[in-house]
Amino acid sequence: MPELPEMENYKNLLSPLVIGRTVTHVDINRIKSINIEPEPFKGSLVGQRISHIERKAKHLLFHLDTGNILVLHLMLGGLMFFGREEERPKRTTQIEIAFGEEILYFIGLRLGYLHFYTKESIEMKIGQLGPEPLENGFTSNQFTSMMAKKRGTLKPILVDQRFISGIGNCYSDEICFHAGILPTRNVKDLGAQELSKLFYSLQFVLHEAISYGGYDPKCRVYDRENEPCLRCNQAILQDKIGSRKTFFCRNCQN
Ligand SMILES: [Zn+2]
Repeated sequence: MPELPEMENYKNLLSPLVIGRTVTHVDINRIKSINIEPEPFKGSLVGQRISHIERKAKHLLFHLDTGNILVLHLMLGGLMFFGREEERPKRTTQIEIAFGEEILYFIGLRLGYLHFYTKESIEMKIGQLGPEPLENGFTSNQFTSMMAKKRGTLKPILVDQRFISGIGNCYSDEICFHAGILPTRNVKDLGAQELSKLFYSLQFVLHEAISYGGYDPKCRVYDRENEPCLRCNQAILQDKIGSRKTFFCRNCQN
């Protein structure tokens, strides 16, 4: 599932293509992918310009000149393609937003969605999200004091969107590996030095992934069960925390 770095990459790629452009046509092929009736959905888009694109946690927010906002979550398997009709991907599309000759195709939105919000109602949707880990105001001190209030296993806390925005299954494992800390640890047992290492790794891994435009082939532990650890050569292990698969190196992480 795309997490913060992948969505940041989409934002960077899409912004120059659609910002300032007027929506000329909208097709809805899957009503379940939107949250209001198709006609008002189309009606509030056609003729409007995209003013800017913002990423919040794992969402992309398409801001319209009217102040209304489209909120995209790709969930598992969702993706976007931008191009002309003749470049149309050979897959079922759920939503298509045309800007003249060029079209933004939404594909694989089975669990994912593109929802319409007004300026007033958006707060209900994203107001619950925790801080953005790469924003300037998010400091090691803030992270440490947030952690001090938590109890329980590290991994579920890192992927809780109300705690920190944008980290999911993959990056939580990558961050723990980079920090040399097992994702199965209880956070109340983490010392000050471990917490500051975790904060540093969180920033390092997310920045690094954004610089690659996403991480998939670069993962050091995630989805690499039985493959050799890139640091010590021992086999990467997989465990389950709740229903979440968790990957780690027993030798490099404590
Ligand atoms: Zn190792």
